[in-house]
Amino acid sequence: MASSPAQPVFRFAPSPNGRLHLGHALSALTNERFAASMGGRLLLRIEDIDRERCTLGLEQALRDDLAWLGLGFEPKVRRQSEHFGDYAVALAKLQARDLVYPCFCSRQGVKTAVAAEEAKSGRPWPVDPDGAPLYPGTCRALDRDVTAARIAAGEPHVLRLAMDRAIAEAGKVAFTVVDEDGRTETVTARPARWGDVVLARRDVPTSYHLSVVLDDALQGVTHVVRGRDLEAATDIHVVLQRLLGLPTPLYHFHELLTDESGRKLAKSRGSESLADLRAQGATAVQIRQQLGFD
Ligand SMILES: [Zn+2]
Repeated sequence: MASSPAQPVFRFAPSPNGRLHLGHALSALTNERFAASMGGRLLLRIEDIDRERCTLGLEQALRDDLAWLGLGFEPKVRRQSEHFGDYAVALAKLQARDLVYPCFCSRQGVKTAVAAEEAKSGRPWPVDPDGAPLYPGTCRALDRDVTAARIAAGEPHVLRLAMDRAIAEAGKVAFTVVDEDGRTETVTARPARWGDVVLARRDVPTSYHLSVVLDDALQGVTHVVRGRDLEAATDIHVVLQRLLGLPTPLYHFHELLTDESGRKLAKSRGSESLADLRAQGATAVQIRQQLGFD
C-alpha cells in the first residue's frame, strides 16, 4: 500500500535472537496504539544482522507471538539480513568523506589501552551512556598505507565513525520527541558522549546504528516508537541521518518494564517469554490488559 504524504508510518523492529517477552509486547502495542490513533501504517522489521544468534525458527516464533497478541502488520516485512548491500552503499559514502576508519583493536586491546590511559591520568576513563568505555582512539590516526596493508592481509577489523569529524560536518543536531498526547519537545543531541562508535562489525558489514537509520529512511518511517533504553543512542542516529542526507523521524520513548529486582526485562536474563505465559494459560486479552492496553 502506498503511503500518502501525510500518513504516519510506524514500525516494530525485534531481533529474532530469543523469544519475545512482555517488554517487546509493550513496545509493539505502543506502536499499534500510536498507529491506530493517528490512522498510520504499522510495519514489521526483522533486525537479524547477527547471523550467529538470529534464526528463522525464532523469527517464525516471534511472528506467531505477535499474531497471538492480535497485532497486525503490513504483509511486506523487511529483513535486515537481506539488505547488506544498502548498508555497504551508506558506509562507502561515509568512507569517501573520511568519516569512518578501520579499527583493528580487539575487545581486550581496547581494555588494555583504557587501563593504560587511566594509569597515566590517575582518573577513570570516560564511559558512554551504556557504560562502556569510550574508544581510546588507538587506530584513529593510523597511516593509510599501513591500514590498507593490514586489511589486504586479512586482519579482522571494524569500521568506526570518526565522531569529531562527523560532528564537525553534521553541525548541531536535534530531534523531536512526541508524547502520547501529541505534545512535542525538541532535544539537542549530544553524540560526542558516544565517541567513535562501530558502524560495521567484524562479522557483518553493518551495525545496529547504521542499519536502523538506513531502514527507517528506506521504509519511510515517520515515527520511531521504542524503549527509553534507546533514547541516548538517538544522538548517534540523528548524526548519521544528517551525514547521509536522510530525514529524521519523530521519536517516542516508552517506559521499560522491569523485573522484581528493578532490572530491565531481557532475553539474556531469562525473563519470562510470551510463550511461557501462554503455556501457563495467559490469554492475549490478559496480556494486553496487564500492559495497559484494552
Ligand atoms: Zn582500534
